[in-house]
Amino acid sequence: MTKLKTVIALSILGSLALACGPTITPTLRGGTTGTFSLTAPAIEPPKLTEILSPNSNGRDGVAIDTIVLHHTAMPSTAANIAKFFQDPKSKVSSHYVVDRTGEIIRCVPDDLRSWHAGRSSFQDRPNVNNFSIGIEICNVGDNIEPYPAAQVDAVIRLTAWLAKTHNVPVANLTRHRDVAIPAGRKNDTSDNFDQKYVYKSVQDMLAGRRPAAYRVAKAPASYDPTKLTYTVAPGDTWESIADDLYDAPTAAPALRQINPGITLRPGTVLKRLVSYR
Ligand SMILES: [Zn+2]
Repeated sequence: MTKLKTVIALSILGSLALACGPTITPTLRGGTTGTFSLTAPAIEPPKLTEILSPNSNGRDGVAIDTIVLHHTAMPSTAANIAKFFQDPKSKVSSHYVVDRTGEIIRCVPDDLRSWHAGRSSFQDRPNVNNFSIGIEICNVGDNIEPYPAAQVDAVIRLTAWLAKTHNVPVANLTRHRDVAIPAGRKNDTSDNFDQKYVYKSVQDMLAGRRPAAYRVAKAPASYDPTKLTYTVAPGDTWESIADDLYDAPTAAPALRQINPGITLRPGTVLKRLVSYR
């Protein structure tokens, strides 16, 4: 028998797909009968690598009910970010880091509290780290660098798995910029990260539906995310800049090192970190 793709089966039998599981035998208009494989992606444990961070503590019995998305603000790999989290002196971490390739690294087990959101509040509850899982997405966060399809796919699958595992409602998928206090303190995830598409795709997966196709944006040919700069604003310190950019005041010495001899003044243009050493 000919196996046709989901697209056809779903269009004809959308609601049956949910009730009947992965393989159904429909009768098409005109009387043709066939077996159709429904390829709505199953929610499975994602493949991941572990680079565990010591920067975590217990949840004190508080249940996980929120997932917070971040961008890393750096062109470096997920492994490089995970190594920074591995340093106890960095005092930061997240549960997962998703590389541009779609590789997923786990840095903190879900049952522990990772240190990703800082001062934060969600649904009138302070200290979002207590009840959330943090996912860092590798992207420089300049609203230009595209989020590749493999990466977005990995974020959706990981988030769907976590939502299913911990019973996180879709309404509790959020971004650092939406929970940071004071409001406006953080800008991740960047404007060109289509969080509505990601939330909807997770919702589709939880309902057994195939997510809509993802449209990848293109950066201009001359675009080079390793050449990004930061312009100093009034009141900035090295620590506040490192916190703003990388969620990590502890990245201040590294930032200073690549900007030697510079005194911070409003308007001063700084080089940004390309990676953690
Ligand atoms: Zn963040």
